Amino acid sequence: LQSKLPSVGTTIFTVMSTLAQEHQAINLSQGFPDFAMDPRLIDAVDQAMREGANQYTHMNGHPLLRERIAGKVGHLYGAGVDPQTEITVTPGATYAIYTSLTCILRPGDEVIVFEPAYDSYIPTIEVNGATAVRVPLQFPHYSIDWDLVKKAITPRTRMILLNTPHNPTGSVWTDADFRMLETLVEGTDILLMSDEVYEHITFDGYRHPSILKYPVLRARAFACFSFGKAYHCTGWKIGYCIAPPALTTEFRKVHQFNCFSTNTPAQLGLARYLENREAYESLPAFFQRKRDLFLGLMKDSPFRWLDSKGSYFVLGSYGHFSQEPDTDFAIRLTKEYGVAVIPVSVFYQDGKDDKVVRFCFAKEDKTLEEAARRLTSV
Ligand code: PMP
Ligand code: GLN
Repeated sequence: LQSKLPSVGTTIFTVMSTLAQEHQAINLSQGFPDFAMDPRLIDAVDQAMREGANQYTHMNGHPLLRERIAGKVGHLYGAGVDPQTEITVTPGATYAIYTSLTCILRPGDEVIVFEPAYDSYIPTIEVNGATAVRVPLQFPHYSIDWDLVKKAITPRTRMILLNTPHNPTGSVWTDADFRMLETLVEGTDILLMSDEVYEHITFDGYRHPSILKYPVLRARAFACFSFGKAYHCTGWKIGYCIAPPALTTEFRKVHQFNCFSTNTPAQLGLARYLENREAYESLPAFFQRKRDLFLGLMKDSPFRWLDSKGSYFVLGSYGHFSQEPDTDFAIRLTKEYGVAVIPVSVFYQDGKDDKVVRFCFAKEDKTLEEAARRLTSV
């Protein structure tokens, strides 16, 4: 068999979570909370099921949920979005990203990707026959060197992928970054995919400037979001894509024959729950406390911490006390110290190793305390 993705193995998230289970390690690797979600949201879905919302809903998403999403992005980003022609509800953001790329890319197209890159991006580009053109973020702040982006653009550039707040580094785009992107793409036919799954998880007073706030960019963007990250229900796999009507039309051509529609009771439950703005307005403070608690608990460990301005991840650097490759180091932490983390080199196609590993702090306080206790002796 000639593989369509010959260099792709199993995603690091499955590899590390499996290893964590095998060694009964605390799992700070794969990004998901270990605390309970809001019981009101569970009740809302339960109620939806009991009311009989158990058959296919509209293929583009439950009408009430699309209306509520439009209300939310209007409130947060001042964006007027039409629920009929611009919002599609999907089984998670991964699917929304995959569909955005698949409905556009053809063999020979180039797609600009910032590295380290979330692990689904490059395989999704390549399975569509297109080529990833990689632009490194600048260590240690993982900021963008816009001259490098400019140089990476060619007549074949079809899309640019962006992700803010950024997984795995916790860096964020500034307003100046969005303005630079505007200047670069204006007058071209380059499209954008903006992965904003951590839109609500930002720290130190910084608030997420969604691509939806920038009309020039929004007119050419698929913006992808996830309820899993927002409401502590990653296992529900519900997300959505917002794109202008012409792009949404293409998106839905693929979507209707890939999964057709997304889980009905979860959508109706989420729609009713979205009335409650406090659920997302409380997230920055909630996660900032977790980040600060974790960093405080870890102050006696030998790691040096890089800045996390958003997302629920923070990078720990260890090059000053070990020269092990980060993949070996992550495996050793899991096996010998009982704490699983993610090696960041896997997010670079050439395996660039800055000797940093990613910790997820979306965990119960007691989980973070126990992880810190185990790691102080590293
Ligand atoms: N993009 C990024 C940057 C992520 O971290 C994740 C993981 N949640 C996703 C996309 C996928 O989200 P979902 O679980 O909704 O598919
Ligand atoms: N986004 C999550 C992370 O970065 C994992 C999601 C997944 O396992 N695909 O850890």
